[in-house]
Amino acid sequence: MSGYADVRRVRGLIEGLDRYTATPGRGTTRLTYSPEFRAARNFVAAEMTAAGLAVREDAVGNIFGRIEGRDPDLAPILVGSHLDSVPHGGRFDGPAGVVAGIESAFLFRDLCLRPERPIEVVALIEEEGSRFGGGLLGSRLLAGQLDPARLADLRDAAGVSAAQAIAAYGLDPAEARRAVLAPGSVHAFLELHIEQGPVLEAEGRDIAIVERIVGLAQLMVTVRGRAGHAGTTPMHARRDALVGAVLILAQLPDLARAVGSDAVLTVGKMEVLPGGANVIPEMVSFTVDLRAPSEAQLTRLIAMTCEVVGASSCNGLECRIEHQLYVPPTPLSGRICAILTAEAEALGLSHRIMVSGAGHDAMILAGLAPTGLVFVPSRGGISHAPEEWTDYIQLARGIDVIFATLRRMAGATVPEPAGRLQS
Ligand SMILES: [Zn+2]
Repeated sequence: MSGYADVRRVRGLIEGLDRYTATPGRGTTRLTYSPEFRAARNFVAAEMTAAGLAVREDAVGNIFGRIEGRDPDLAPILVGSHLDSVPHGGRFDGPAGVVAGIESAFLFRDLCLRPERPIEVVALIEEEGSRFGGGLLGSRLLAGQLDPARLADLRDAAGVSAAQAIAAYGLDPAEARRAVLAPGSVHAFLELHIEQGPVLEAEGRDIAIVERIVGLAQLMVTVRGRAGHAGTTPMHARRDALVGAVLILAQLPDLARAVGSDAVLTVGKMEVLPGGANVIPEMVSFTVDLRAPSEAQLTRLIAMTCEVVGASSCNGLECRIEHQLYVPPTPLSGRICAILTAEAEALGLSHRIMVSGAGHDAMILAGLAPTGLVFVPSRGGISHAPEEWTDYIQLARGIDVIFATLRRMAGATVPEPAGRLQS
C-alpha cells in the first residue's frame, strides 16, 4: 500500500514520548506540569525543531510549532492533541494526535512543501483532568471557555493550585490570559485520536471521521430513608435508602435503550451512609452519566430519568435529583468532514462516519474554529489502560489523512504518494 507517513518515525515518536512516565512498566502516567510532563515537553519541542518548526510555549504550557505560510498573515490551521495522560494509561491517548502533527510537519519538510497558510502543531496540557479535575483545561483556556482567574481555585490532590503549579513549572500564571486565542485567529483545528472503543476494529476499517461529539449530562440522585438497627427493625418498618436506590438503578439502563442505540447511561459512583454492615442505610447518593448524539435524545433521556426518580419517592423514601453538568452535542465542521472523507478515499482507506461518545480537545476547539476529528482503531477497544494499543501502520494511515487534509486546506502543491516500507 502507498502512503506518506514514515511508520518507523511515527513509532520512534510514540515510543520516545512514552519514556516519560512516572510508572515505567505499569503504563503511562504523565500528569500536567510533572517532571515527566516537562521531559515530554522538551522531547516534543526538540522533535518540532528537527521537523523545521518554530517552537513557542504559551503562558500555561501549551506548545506550538509553526510552519510559516507563504502568506504569514493568514490565520493558521492548528493540528494536534494533548500530552498528559490518566494514571497508568496508554501511550496513544493524546500523543497519537501530537505525533500526527509532528509527522505531518516532517512530511512537509521531506517533500519540500510550503503551505500558503501557516500550520501550527499543538501539544495541549491537562485534557484528562487527572491532576486538576474537570479536564480539557488547555483547550478551554485557548478557546476562552475558562476564566484564567480560576487557575488559582483548581487544586490537585496535594492541594497545589494550578496557578502555583504553573509558577513552579517556570511560567507566570498572571500571564495566563495571554494564552486565550482571539475569535477568528484560527482557521481550523484538526485532531487525530484513538477511537477508545471497539467499532473500527470490529468492522475492519482504517479510520473514522467524527461528525459530532455526543451531548453529556451528569445528575446526582439522593435517596433518603431512615437509619436503624439491622437486627431489631422488622422488615415492614424499614425505610431502607439503598433498597430504594437499587430499585431506581435497575430501571435506568432500559431508558437509554429506549432513547436510541447511540444513547448510553452509566451509574459509576455511589455512596451509602452511614455505611455500617449492621445499620440500615439512611442515605444513598449516586451519579448518573447520560450521553446521546442529539439534543432531543439527551433531554428526553434526562426527563425519563427524572420521572423514574420522582416516582420512587414513596414508602417513606425521599428522592432528590440535582443537575450537575449539561454539555449539548457538538457538531464538527461538515466541510472539513467532507475533505477528510475525500482524502481518505484518495488514499484508498476504508472509513466510516462516527459519533464520538467521548469528549476531546476537538469538542472545545470547535467553539473557536471549524474542527475535524479522525479516529484510528483501538485494539479490543481498550483505553486508559497500559494495554491500550494501535498498530503503527494503522496510526500511519490516520496520519496520512491528516497530512493530506492539511496540505489541501493550507494550499500546498500535491506530490504523488510514494511506496511505503512496512516495519
Ligand atoms: Zn485523549
